[in-house]
Amino acid sequence: MAVIDFKCTQCGKQFFEVTTSKDRAKVRCPQCGTNELKQVFGGTAYLKTSSEKGKGGCGRSCSSCGSSCG
Ligand SMILES: [Zn+2]
Repeated sequence: MAVIDFKCTQCGKQFFEVTTSKDRAKVRCPQCGTNELKQVFGGTAYLKTSSEKGKGGCGRSCSSCGSSCG
């Protein structure tokens, strides 16, 4: 399982799904229902999985926590 970020090529909605690479093709846009999705790297999922465990836990808004986890 992996958290994968998608961006809908139809309506522009950006969202993430917990899915497997096998089930990736089944993911649909929650807003318009299309499966015309583009995988986004370094999006929401990336921030959630890596930066939340960062030193400051600030989600890369280091100006707000004064750390340098970003
Ligand atoms: Zn859409």
